[in-house]
Amino acid sequence: MAARERCARRGGPGQGLSLPARHDPEPRRDEHAGASSSPLPFIDSHAHIAAEGFDEDRGAVLGRLHDAGGQGVICIGESLEAARRANTLAAGHPGRVWWTAGVHPHDAAGYDPGTDGPVIRQAMRDGAVAVGECGLDYHYDHSPRPLQRRAFADQLALAKETGRPVVLHTRDAEEDTTAMLREAGDAGIRGVLHCYTGSLALAEVGLAAGWSVSFSGIVTFKKWDDLDLLRLVPADRLLVESDSPYLAPVPFRGKRNEPAWCAYTLRRLAEVRAEDPATLAAQVLGNTRRLFALD
Ligand SMILES: [Zn+2]
Ligand SMILES: [Zn+2]
Repeated sequence: MAARERCARRGGPGQGLSLPARHDPEPRRDEHAGASSSPLPFIDSHAHIAAEGFDEDRGAVLGRLHDAGGQGVICIGESLEAARRANTLAAGHPGRVWWTAGVHPHDAAGYDPGTDGPVIRQAMRDGAVAVGECGLDYHYDHSPRPLQRRAFADQLALAKETGRPVVLHTRDAEEDTTAMLREAGDAGIRGVLHCYTGSLALAEVGLAAGWSVSFSGIVTFKKWDDLDLLRLVPADRLLVESDSPYLAPVPFRGKRNEPAWCAYTLRRLAEVRAEDPATLAAQVLGNTRRLFALD
């Protein structure tokens, strides 16, 4: 499946987002522009930069990440093939690019615990920093729901076994996610609700289970109005991500996203939470390093 089919909340033509998406809003340069301010330190906690859409200029993308204050990026393996590519990329950038391995809910129908499980287990031995992204996506329903639950449950068990955190993708599946998150929390499994746009209630379930919440460029969109959600997450559980190549923040909406632009998301969060951007960035950076045990 093409990379653009996979992740959470992008909307291609005719594939509308449930959030913002029909027209690009006017850029809001005044409020949280990154360019004129001093760089904030951060790690992009979720990007698909091993995807072929970055083959032409991946080095330049990583250079811009560095120039923007970025200390690194977690490259998501949303399939076993993507994980292999992410591993190769990370091996070329030690201490700057890390990788994960899992099977996205879109592909859960093809997940075989007997053959895919051992590959994910081995990936954790080989240095992958998390299991995922995995989870439940009842918006697209690309895989039957029982098979999504089965694949997610199996990957949660692998996370428990290997002691790694989970990168959770959840969309329009709040009831089942709530039940599985609670169980995972009780079992001592930790992780992050990535690119979170769900309800306050589900975020609270995740936080109570000991999980973190990651926001993407979606929170910079003019139509994002759930400010309470952005204020709900305690500063020590907050992460940021680009989810590149999807979901470029204002003022880059519609373009291919890249990790450097996490700075806009950070500034937006600081603005809404009425916190100092540099202080918040330092906290979020520490959260990211701690959750994924980054060296
Ligand atoms: Zn993703
Ligand atoms: Zn996702």
